[in-house]
Amino acid sequence: MLSSDHAICIRLLDYSETSQILTIFTRNNGLIRVIAKGSHRATKAGSSKFDGGVDLLDEGACVFTDRLEKDLNILTEWKVVDGRRWLRTTLRPLHLSLYLAELISDLIEVRDPQPELYQRYAWTLDQFNTPAIEEAAIALVIDLLQISGYLPLLDRCVACERDIAREKLLFFLPSRGGVVCSTCEGALPGRMVVDPRPVAIARMILGLPRSAGAVNRLPRLTRAQSDPLHAMLISHVQHLLSRSLNTRRYVMAPERFTRPLNRQPITTPQATMVDAPDPTQVDQ
Ligand SMILES: [Zn+2]
Repeated sequence: MLSSDHAICIRLLDYSETSQILTIFTRNNGLIRVIAKGSHRATKAGSSKFDGGVDLLDEGACVFTDRLEKDLNILTEWKVVDGRRWLRTTLRPLHLSLYLAELISDLIEVRDPQPELYQRYAWTLDQFNTPAIEEAAIALVIDLLQISGYLPLLDRCVACERDIAREKLLFFLPSRGGVVCSTCEGALPGRMVVDPRPVAIARMILGLPRSAGAVNRLPRLTRAQSDPLHAMLISHVQHLLSRSLNTRRYVMAPERFTRPLNRQPITTPQATMVDAPDPTQVDQ
């Protein structure tokens, strides 16, 4: 049986000299893994069936064999409907698009239809051609975590359940999937120091109205606001997946992840990883 759909190519691997293995995020069928046989071949057949070959982040109209029992289906047609040139000419949009692609491929189950998330991703890639880059990316990460059921707890302390809205000093604990208040943090190794202001922005974005893939009334964010949120959410996702994200270095500088604990009041909006206590230094 053949299925037709719209899809964005979110993972691409050359397979032999002539073929490609793709993960496509389809509008109506969710994530599908397909092989495009002959898509690399510079023949009339290859270029006519696959529109000259599939590129990462291209959005296309596609036809594929739809056999549930197969881990790898066959892509039989691909026609680019939106190449979004700006994703290839500007570094920040490209990097964020690849990061979002990795999150989608890791957090969404294969063959779990997510038409709303598809619309949100397509809208976000369009925003990357406007000044609304940082806020659009953060909003998609938040929605993706919510849709996949992995949204961290951002309004109450995961240990004592106290409302953290007025906390001046805030922590995030990837192993518990949420924020920690200053009273509880001392007993919790592996916590990160986080600036409460970006966390408040994330809570505010969660409450904004959505329509047709768009988030309405998104506030303009700078890197100083989005970077600490990315650091916190990346640590959260990496804990969920038990591995590092390949694209995390695209999102922000590596030193953001490994700063030592700073117990002074936070003056710069950065997320810093607190080292777990050294087991050889435990008090007797
Ligand atoms: Zn607490």
